Amino acid sequence: MSVRRVLVVGGGIGGLSATLALRQAGVEVDLVEKDAEWSVHGVGIIQPGNALRALDRLGVAEECVAQGHPMVGMRSWTADGETLLRADEFPPAGEGLPPNNGITRRRPHDILVAAARKSGARIRTGVTTSAVEPGTGDVAAAHAVTTAAMAPL
Ligand SMILES: Cc1cc2nc3c(=O)[nH]c(=O)nc-3n(C[C@H](O)[C@H](O)[C@H](O)COP(=O)(O)OP(=O)(O)OC[C@H]3O[C@@H](n4cnc5c(N)ncnc54)[C@H](O)[C@@H]3O)c2cc1C
Repeated sequence: MSVRRVLVVGGGIGGLSATLALRQAGVEVDLVEKDAEWSVHGVGIIQPGNALRALDRLGVAEECVAQGHPMVGMRSWTADGETLLRADEFPPAGEGLPPNNGITRRRPHDILVAAARKSGARIRTGVTTSAVEPGTGDVAAAHAVTTAAMAPL
């Protein structure tokens, strides 16, 4: 089956990453995000090596690293100052990538949203699906709050 159009429900890291990967594969994407403000909760996030490699495949790792802080090791201590863990040199995540990247939570969201918009995905916020009905063949109708989209499921 050749998928030509997909409805992505939810614009978190997962939905935005899926959108980019699908657009790279030439698939049309409608993304709906229920939160009209598209809020992002949390102060910061660590992007470990596997995440950086995935983001690199999606073309956004470089921007995340540019806006973040490379983390090359880790140390932890007891309250008395005794060293519990010391790892000074994690291997790089890949060519031109640090082992881990620490970044303010909003930044990767903005980077992914900008990339998703640039990719040509149709993005609507303040919209969710209210029902999914089986259709003919591989096509189903997903009714959104304000409109309806047709997408293979
Ligand atoms: C305190 C905390 C610290 C963390 N620290 C790290 C870290 O350092 N490193 C790391 O890699 N991960 C970390 N994580 C995990 C990481 O934040 C999550 O794995 C990631 O955000 C999940 O992304 P997601 O897209 O799957 O889901 P979510 O971020 O939950 O996104 C889902 C999106 O879908 C929307 N949505 C939901 N239902 C609907 C609907 N019916 N219709 C339309 N839209 C809908 C929501 O509004 C939301 O925008 C942390 C998580 C927490 C809670």
